[in-house]
Amino acid sequence: MLVDTHIHLDLKEFKADRQDVIERSFKEGFVRLINVGLNPQSIAASKKLAEDNEQVYFTSGFHPHDVKNITAADWHFLEVAAEHPKAVAVGETGLDFYRNISPRELQISAFRRQLELAKKLNKPVVIHSRDAMADTLKIIREIGLSERGGVMHCFSGNYDDFLACAAQGLHISLGGPLTYRRNDELREIVKKIPLDALLLETDAPYLAPQSKRGRRNEPVFLSEVVALIAELKGLSEADVKRITTTNAEKLFSLGINIPSETIAYPIRNSLYLNITSKCTNSCFFCVRFQKDLLKGYNLFLEHEPTVEEIIRALGDLPSQYKEVVFCGYGEPTVRLDELLEVARYVKERFKKPVRINTNGHFYLLHDKKRLKELQGLIDSLSISFNTADSEQYRKICLPRFEGDVLQSVIEFSKDAKEIIPQVTITALNLPEVDLKAVATLARELKVHFRRRKINEAG
Ligand code: SF4
Ligand SMILES: [Zn+2]
Repeated sequence: MLVDTHIHLDLKEFKADRQDVIERSFKEGFVRLINVGLNPQSIAASKKLAEDNEQVYFTSGFHPHDVKNITAADWHFLEVAAEHPKAVAVGETGLDFYRNISPRELQISAFRRQLELAKKLNKPVVIHSRDAMADTLKIIREIGLSERGGVMHCFSGNYDDFLACAAQGLHISLGGPLTYRRNDELREIVKKIPLDALLLETDAPYLAPQSKRGRRNEPVFLSEVVALIAELKGLSEADVKRITTTNAEKLFSLGINIPSETIAYPIRNSLYLNITSKCTNSCFFCVRFQKDLLKGYNLFLEHEPTVEEIIRALGDLPSQYKEVVFCGYGEPTVRLDELLEVARYVKERFKKPVRINTNGHFYLLHDKKRLKELQGLIDSLSISFNTADSEQYRKICLPRFEGDVLQSVIEFSKDAKEIIPQVTITALNLPEVDLKAVATLARELKVHFRRRKINEAG
């Protein structure tokens, strides 16, 4: 599943084979294309494309290059088109102080007017900004966006620009330029930014990726960009496609069905199981307090799934999965009986390794004697220490239990190490956390240690 969030199929470069390009993209896994309007003719053509093709949507806007020719009637046309049921955003609007094809004052006033319209219609906005990031952001801050936010198309700023865009509710969309040789800085930025901020675009016919440079771009060429993002983020290409498609659906409401209450979800080559939304901590950074979505999955559970439901979600466990992980939006050991039953099924039926990602509250939840029930069923444990300091643990994790909770987690880890082949403790790379102290603790406990990024679950 892929969405090209920014394409210009109405342009003359596609005159000869427009419909073929559309069909080809759908054959290659695209589920939606968003054709971006630039001027009155382009908006009209984009609207027509969306009306003729179920999976094509469009946006209504005036590109900064085109605003020099716009009349009052054109503005009326843009505004009416923006209310069309398949018009998913206002734009492409913004500032281009690189080419300055339209006078700057006109670009600024047209940009302001389109931002106002997006707010009025509660639609997202597609922004073009070239050599004008500071002015673009200043105007956005003054006027504000609708609650829907928007996208900085063909993002080419630095990391601070990204942070400033994110603070305004803007996604960033990436395409061919990410693959260009000189774009090392952009690739470094992509490594750092959260996945839920990312969208894919071609900007076709422009900006073909490196191996196709100089040729007319089209959606199927995006595979080169997907492969690169997967490499930069340490994910599979399927992960990148799913995550960016979910992001596009959330931003533009394209009618793509994102399954809800996901129980089993692959990330890279592990199959994760989401068996509860209950937890005995309330970590301030926990993703489940901020959003339903994790790496493109909706993990919010309306109910706690039964063993049968979990086993059904596992299906035949295709051979590409090298392990099954109990993780998800809560603490899996809260449901120890169900967890053990499913783990036993996985071991007997599929003979695959089983891991639990846990907060380590086992001894606070269950009789210590029950630890041995994990023996032979669980191959590895990843325990979130977060910190090596008991006071700080209380502040970061807000545990439900009284007393020295971290001490209990330490004790559990020590005992678990005796019966579980691989035990890893993790800590957060927060400035206030003493990572060295956690690493030292890991050495004392003779377990592995891993640093975890905040907001990067799974
Ligand atoms: S332990 Fe994990 S699931 Fe529980 S609140 Fe903390 S981050 Fe969330
Ligand atoms: Zn464009």
